[in-house]
Amino acid sequence: MFSNAGAKNDNIALTTNAPTLERPLSQKTQMQQLSILLNSTALFSVLIGIIGLLLGSFLNVVIYRLPIMMQRGWRKECAEYLQITPEASATEESFNLVLPLSRCPGCNTPIKPYQNIPLISYVFLKGKCATCGCHISMRYPIIEAFTAITSMIVAWHFGYTPQAFFALLLTWSLIALIFIDVDHQLLPDSITLPMLWLGMCLSLFNVFTDAHASIIGAVAGYTALWSVFQLFKLVTGKEGMGYGDFKLLALFGAWLGWQYLPIIILLSSLVGAVIGLGMIVFVKHDHNVPIPFGPYLAAAGWIALLWGSDLNQLYLTTVGL
Ligand SMILES: [Zn+2]
Repeated sequence: MFSNAGAKNDNIALTTNAPTLERPLSQKTQMQQLSILLNSTALFSVLIGIIGLLLGSFLNVVIYRLPIMMQRGWRKECAEYLQITPEASATEESFNLVLPLSRCPGCNTPIKPYQNIPLISYVFLKGKCATCGCHISMRYPIIEAFTAITSMIVAWHFGYTPQAFFALLLTWSLIALIFIDVDHQLLPDSITLPMLWLGMCLSLFNVFTDAHASIIGAVAGYTALWSVFQLFKLVTGKEGMGYGDFKLLALFGAWLGWQYLPIIILLSSLVGAVIGLGMIVFVKHDHNVPIPFGPYLAAAGWIALLWGSDLNQLYLTTVGL
């Protein structure tokens, strides 16, 4: 396990070993101030919060464009397989996370860089397009703020450590997964699989867990939900989950180790049941229309990433072990 103490010691070593006599006094105090700042969890969290805002802006692009990119790819593959001419939309101008540049969906005017500052632009533009005045969805600033807040929580929790860096990567991936699943009932392999492999690689360095727990976790995570899925299908003839959900639980198994799987399943089912019932009762959601399970799983996994060991302890004492 890495800890804050290591980073602090390094900084002390740096300042004491340095040839202090040759260095002017003001420069020395500046160095000390810098090292204090770097070791301050509060400052680190604020910095990460700002990075989170910018990343949130990028996540908005990923959430909107990645599913469209996937659908275009599928159409093209289908057309090739059936040996028919692909639709114009599949072959026209390049469409990826960078190109074309963001445009207003109402009037197609390209959005200028100063109109694209997270949160601030939304407030200044009063939620309207500067050219045509059409309404800009509240969702964009909400996702930006949500990314900033969750990033700050991660930074505060782990401090200035390697774990904080990787936990942030996971947090950002999960936010993209949650909203893509809400919109399209889809958890893209292009996010889940690389993150699953990353979790396994990190276990080689004992970042969150050891390789033994990680490999068992990945296999058990996938198998657990796959079995529930097959059983549910056998009994009801319906498909209650998607293969993306299995991969997502495998991802958490790989990152955190098999020991965290029960608490993740428990938490996600609890939250899922409460919100699901609420939607059927209050929003008159048709119970035959599937509610994606991915967001609950992602939220539960994120909670386990931060407070999993406390929750496991609490669970074990409650059960009486
Ligand atoms: Zn417009």
